[in-house]
Amino acid sequence: MWYNVTMENLDKLQNIIDGAKRMVFFGGAGVSTESGIPDFRSQDGLYNTKYAYPPEQILSHTFFCYQTSEFYDFYRDKMLYLDAQPNAAHLKLAEWERQGKLTAVVTQNIDGLHQKAGSKNVFELHGSVWRNYCTRCGKPYAVQDILHSKGVPKCSCGGIVKPDVVLYEEGLNGDILNDSIRHISEADVLIIGGTSLNVYPAAGLVDYFNGDHLVVINKGMPAKSTAGALYIDGKIGEVFSQLK
Ligand code: NAD
Repeated sequence: MWYNVTMENLDKLQNIIDGAKRMVFFGGAGVSTESGIPDFRSQDGLYNTKYAYPPEQILSHTFFCYQTSEFYDFYRDKMLYLDAQPNAAHLKLAEWERQGKLTAVVTQNIDGLHQKAGSKNVFELHGSVWRNYCTRCGKPYAVQDILHSKGVPKCSCGGIVKPDVVLYEEGLNGDILNDSIRHISEADVLIIGGTSLNVYPAAGLVDYFNGDHLVVINKGMPAKSTAGALYIDGKIGEVFSQLK
């Protein structure tokens, strides 16, 4: 059953958080919409805007390899929000980590806003736009180099520079995956927020949770069932700004 953001649910959630000792947050693009970064599947998300190709295709490894210039046109235009600031959700998670209640943020986001908010233990399942490397020599490049480049960004060695972002068809980093699984499986509270739970293998990680309280805070119901959870159907920044 789905609830709105009621005082009763906020009280339930606050009680869960007050009792938490090893809380983990698992999030997605919906965590950053209140910072002005569009998600993929909301009504005004990237999947509902029109391009010559669907976003899944543009953001795939094959497309990157064979239509690199078009990949970068889309990427510079739609994936880089370098001035975005953390919202109440990012800030609250960082505060809970400082208080010793939250052990990790596991995120599908690539925007770096959890770190900007002060979170330290962040597992970026899909990488980050803030790191970029030459595919030939490995030289690192700043995101500003990508933003201000024209066409395909090239290294001084002539190689193509690629964002450290996991594209469709690419595998996740094994260490990040293992650390995320360890934190989730050892957590007493798991809060899932701002994710449609459509993208695998990331979405499957929530199945490793074996703790006391599962909470889902999302606009609309995620694709994957999360039996036994406290569901709060609302904007995560608005919900978190009402919590201690
Ligand atoms: P998604 O777009 O599939 O789902 C987002 C979910 O969040 C939807 O269910 C939506 O209703 C909900 N939502 C939107 N705003 C919300 C809010 N303020 N509060 C609560 N819920 C809200 O995103 P996903 O599940 O993360 O999966 C898609 C992929 O999107 C991920 O792999 C991620 O790498 C990528 N992505 C990342 C960013 C980013 O870094 N900010 C932005 C777009 C896409």
